[in-house]
Amino acid sequence: MEQINKGKEMDFDAVVIGAGFGGLYSVHKLRNELGLSVQAYDKGSDVGGTWYWNRYPGAMSDTESYLYRFSFDKELLKEWSWKESYLMQPEILEYFNHVADRYDLRRSYQFDTKITATRFDEGTNLWHVTTDKGETVTARYLITGLGLLSATNVPNFKGRDTFKGEQYHTAAWPKEGIDLKGKRVGVIGTGSTGVQVIIHTAPEVEHLTVFQRTAQYSVPAGKRPQSEEELNEIKANFGAIWEQAKNSAVAYGIEESTRPLASASKEEQERIFEEAWNKGNGFRFMFETFGDITTDYEANEAAANFIRNKIKSIVKDPETARKLCPTGLYAKRPLCDIGYYETFNRDNVSLVDVKANPIVEITPKGIRTTDGEYELDVIIYATGFDAVDGNYTKIDMRGRGGVRMREKWADGPTGYLGMTNTDFPNLFMILGPNGPFTNLPPSIETQVEWIADTIKHLVDNNLTTIEPTIEAEEEWVETCRNIANQTLFAKEDSWIFGANIPGKKQSVMFYMGGLGNYRKILKEIGYSNFIFDRELANVE
Ligand SMILES: Cc1cc2nc3c(=O)[nH]c(=O)nc-3n(C[C@H](O)[C@H](O)[C@H](O)COP(=O)(O)OP(=O)(O)OC[C@H]3O[C@@H](n4cnc5c(N)ncnc54)[C@H](O)[C@@H]3O)c2cc1C
Repeated sequence: MEQINKGKEMDFDAVVIGAGFGGLYSVHKLRNELGLSVQAYDKGSDVGGTWYWNRYPGAMSDTESYLYRFSFDKELLKEWSWKESYLMQPEILEYFNHVADRYDLRRSYQFDTKITATRFDEGTNLWHVTTDKGETVTARYLITGLGLLSATNVPNFKGRDTFKGEQYHTAAWPKEGIDLKGKRVGVIGTGSTGVQVIIHTAPEVEHLTVFQRTAQYSVPAGKRPQSEEELNEIKANFGAIWEQAKNSAVAYGIEESTRPLASASKEEQERIFEEAWNKGNGFRFMFETFGDITTDYEANEAAANFIRNKIKSIVKDPETARKLCPTGLYAKRPLCDIGYYETFNRDNVSLVDVKANPIVEITPKGIRTTDGEYELDVIIYATGFDAVDGNYTKIDMRGRGGVRMREKWADGPTGYLGMTNTDFPNLFMILGPNGPFTNLPPSIETQVEWIADTIKHLVDNNLTTIEPTIEAEEEWVETCRNIANQTLFAKEDSWIFGANIPGKKQSVMFYMGGLGNYRKILKEIGYSNFIFDRELANVE
């Protein structure tokens, strides 16, 4: 396809923001395959996205290695191997470096550059994209791969700046690492990241104090070395493996069970849970055992109770075990670990329940809760992210008529198919609001491929802009809400609904109908719910 910015009407055909899975694949598709001129940006100094920022000890993907990668290039799949059944951060970053080299992606990037504003100009139908360096460039298409777990959340504790020791958010971990040996360390937060960082720092530090607001259900990951034989078998079957994953619900390489818990005897239930516990992986435990754990209270309680019993059998101190046992539903993104509960049997680890005794302030010496002061040398904030729209609302994004994304999303972020938005023509979001809730690389690939096909459709048909109809967007948001409300996820406070951010309005931010169904919908609707060249259409 011919480069379309020839007449210098604009600086670039496309601007891409982000250098994670989404941004990198977009640059490859648009520049290397479609031949468009592309300028890409990331505020980080290099490629990797999530894995560039999250360098904390123990940072690991909880998708098994063979599915946490790109699938678009069979040669890439064959040539790149992995050491264990799960990937640690350094290995993922190595993969991204390889991908960037292989497709020569870095030359399209300007790193260390934050996008601060994007404005759609209705006169020219171009996006104006402004950086923190004060530059503005124009482009026909704007592709945002800003990440859904990327905007860090640091709770605004009183006295945070008075702390005399060191403090770090896990997603802003220094490249050179931190020497925690012999230090008194406090970790705030016990979500997916907290669990990983707690396991990995405990053996190194003098004392680790864990500040837990919500106890978590976590199952073993089942991490093990990947044998050469297994690796070869996976590589020989990649075609079928990806086909299955992309047409399944959560794309974790599992056959989601459709069997209701009640159809099994108590002994059988126990056996199935025990097998899943021994095999490992949170998504497997939640979705491969029984088909109604996320929709039926009784089935959910059976799974939850099984995990609680495991916690009680692993953790030696009954009071610590009691605090670690969750009381709510098993209905958050399922966690898995490599020895979380066991870590609390160590003499140098203690647990503080900050739901019972909330954090009052950070002091020069440490953390004060309502039951006393904990003296620390280092505070680690494993407090997660302002998920999905967190990075969008940081940018001053304006669409038609100056409509501000921030205001449009005041009651919760919305998007049609998780990729497009009314009033924002030619804006293509990767993992935007109301997109699939899955293992993410296959969803990202699905979206980037749809975006590239759509841009090709525009160019081939001499069309300038595309945006969804209001009706289609409203209907999609309603569909996402209805599906989420049929699940128990909607009954639990979690980042999936924005509940972890004080003041954020809780809303349905994902399409929980599964990747297979999502892909079917994309095929079926074609462009029937979109308006092309809206201004021209109005004139006619
Ligand atoms: C610790 C951790 C473990 C995870 N494990 C898994 C897992 O096992 N399986 C899974 O499916 N998902 C996992 N995730 C989610 C993970 O984020 C996605 O799998 C995937 O990496 C997202 O890729 P992305 O390209 O969409 O976004 P990201 O990788 O988040 O990249 C977004 C990029 O955009 C850049 N950016 C944002 N705003 C701006 C701006 N204004 N200007 C310039 N640059 C900007 C950021 O610097 C960042 O580099 C994990 C997340 C974390 C934090």
